Amino acid sequence: ASPSPKKQISNVTVCSRFRPLNSKERKDHGGQVCVRRIDDETFVFKDEKEEESTFSFDKVFYEDSLQADVYEFIALPIVRDVVNGVNGTIITYGQTGAGKTYSMEGPNVLESDDMKKGLLPRVVDGLFEHLASAGDSIKYEITLSMVEIYMEKVRDLFDLSKDNLVIKQNKGHEMLVSGVTEASELLLLPSLSGKIDSFVRHRRSFAKPTCKMVSFERLFFKCVSHVLILRLNLQAGIQNRAVGETRIHIIMLLKGRTGKLVLVDLAGSEKVEKTGAEGKLLEEAKTINKSLSALGNVINALTCSSSKSNHIPYRDSKLTRLLQDALGGNSRTALICCCSPSTSNSSETFSTLRFGTRAKHI
Ligand code: ADP
Ligand code: MG
Repeated sequence: ASPSPKKQISNVTVCSRFRPLNSKERKDHGGQVCVRRIDDETFVFKDEKEEESTFSFDKVFYEDSLQADVYEFIALPIVRDVVNGVNGTIITYGQTGAGKTYSMEGPNVLESDDMKKGLLPRVVDGLFEHLASAGDSIKYEITLSMVEIYMEKVRDLFDLSKDNLVIKQNKGHEMLVSGVTEASELLLLPSLSGKIDSFVRHRRSFAKPTCKMVSFERLFFKCVSHVLILRLNLQAGIQNRAVGETRIHIIMLLKGRTGKLVLVDLAGSEKVEKTGAEGKLLEEAKTINKSLSALGNVINALTCSSSKSNHIPYRDSKLTRLLQDALGGNSRTALICCCSPSTSNSSETFSTLRFGTRAKHI
């Protein structure tokens, strides 16, 4: 008999991360926490009615976890895979203020404190390290694009005039954002050079002429900060910047010759409808909820190996459509469910944990 067809094994790692209590949570709510640590994979969660339930994930990062721990467990295996041609995706999920951006970027993208650097700068470092260890004189080109999805529109963060980009699939089933600005860096790795510093680098093209720096990392940061400035401008039109900020999915794509690495800082998952929001804010909230549940459905469909139908609903949102080749097939995904440990946020935390559990469910 012929061997059974290879099942599409999806590699989804789901983790939860609790940030430390903030000063408001300490002051207003007596510092009460809704989580009791059992071990590195399991904790007891206490809801508003003091009812307890146990949650388990591939890994639980508690408030004492370091950025380096999160990188090593979640991103390092993905970085290795990307160098070997497997696509990787890292997603942060959770209510606003739960630590998504802190985990992804760090407290500040220009953070000079090495301890606090988030996944993004560490991933860039990691990619270079792995390329350097390849040894021989090889040419690599790494390109970076940054887009945001707001109200189902894909905007180019390196060129704000491109505010409604089209998502396409090429013949190789690769998802592309048509016309997106790609900042690219050509690396010539001299043989026997183990040191990143000795790479010969050519800055080939970049979106903004202001991004002139010698090293890729610095160049990268300069542009990230530039992007943040662009985003601030962008939001000048949105009256409440803090609210605007939370309603946007930010997607960063790092592409090498082999694999593609996608970092996704999702919009806040909080239920805005309940707060009596109206008008534009309500519309935004509905759009966000729709795309977040589409994401949940896709991840769930991928993890259900015995799924009755093979249909994976990528087309239900721009987010899932853009991530189609990053989530399915030859790829590895990590979902970080970011949570506040405070009892005052327990209902949102519960819903975040449910999302994570559902993503893991087989
Ligand atoms: P989100 O992006 O989910 O809205 P942020 O990442 O902006 O939330 O985090 C909200 C605040 O909490 C920020 O001031 C951030 O620096 C802080 N914070 C989040 N996670 C941690 C952590 N693990 N350790 C220390 N501070 C954190
Ligand atoms: Mg954020």
